[in-house]
Amino acid sequence: MSGVIKPEALLCPRPAGLYCPPGDFYIDPTRPVPRAVITHGHADHARAGHGAVAATAETLAIMATRYGDGFAGSTQPLAYGETISRNGVEVSLAPAGHVLGSAQVVVRWKGLTMVVSGDYKRRRDPTCRAFEPVACDVFVTEATFALPVFRHPPADLEIAKLLRSVGQFPRRCHLVGAYALGKAQRVIALLREAGWDRPIPVHGALDSLNAVYARFGVDLGPLEAATTETRGDFAGEIVLAPPSALTTPWQRRFADPVDAFASGWMGIRARARQRAVELPLIISDHADWDELTGTIEELHPAEVWITHGREEALARWCGLRGIPAKALALVGYEDEED
Ligand SMILES: [Zn+2]
Ligand SMILES: [Zn+2]
Repeated sequence: MSGVIKPEALLCPRPAGLYCPPGDFYIDPTRPVPRAVITHGHADHARAGHGAVAATAETLAIMATRYGDGFAGSTQPLAYGETISRNGVEVSLAPAGHVLGSAQVVVRWKGLTMVVSGDYKRRRDPTCRAFEPVACDVFVTEATFALPVFRHPPADLEIAKLLRSVGQFPRRCHLVGAYALGKAQRVIALLREAGWDRPIPVHGALDSLNAVYARFGVDLGPLEAATTETRGDFAGEIVLAPPSALTTPWQRRFADPVDAFASGWMGIRARARQRAVELPLIISDHADWDELTGTIEELHPAEVWITHGREEALARWCGLRGIPAKALALVGYEDEED
């Protein structure tokens, strides 16, 4: 680590989020600020109302889709690997493997390199660029699933479980709850890889983000509107819907539905029961315990900071390995998107 510069001089937690004093910008601020760098499009990280926003073109497109074109005073698309500098602080983005356009923010200043992971995962995902490790002095990591009990199974095995259930109950409709940004498209892409090639009925709330994915070259195959006006009761089909739709009258139109739900939280039985999920699919867009700790081992940073999630276990794990770690306890980020 640079002997002169303390990392707290380059990035520090403020009420609005993680702030860079020399560059005068925030990363994923939770309140409106003059200048923001945004890691990815999930609503708790990407909010409307900032002045200047720098992010990948994909993230900017997702924000425009969700909030409208005037979501920021101005926007600056940044390609992965492209560097901009402000007051001597160099900023670039590296793929985070979380959702389309998701990025880690690499901040360099006076010989010090800090990497802010945003949300990330290390598993293969056909809908976004894979996480790229960037050597750094300080790794600022998420910790959504930072407990040793969280070990996500391979996603393709969960998709196989879904297809097995469809084979077992061919007269029922399989209704899969999946968050609108990232999870829904990943489930669709994994179904395609598993050979499910017929049109997939989707709830209308997924249309605009599906279109963004298609615009950026992610092939989701044929999709159709999940409305009974156009088709019968969807017996034998796999229907995708955001979780919010599963508790509305919309879902009563389906033939004796098997309620499925794709989420990292489905690894917790109580959560599946609480949602009355008949077929929990453990598919997460966040790193699990092994991915979180494996990434820290791989990067071997001098220091680890933890932004949000279950900070204590990860901080303790770092401490046992002689890596100083601190929990930033940033508020305003939620688990809910997974
Ligand atoms: Zn996220
Ligand atoms: Zn998050």
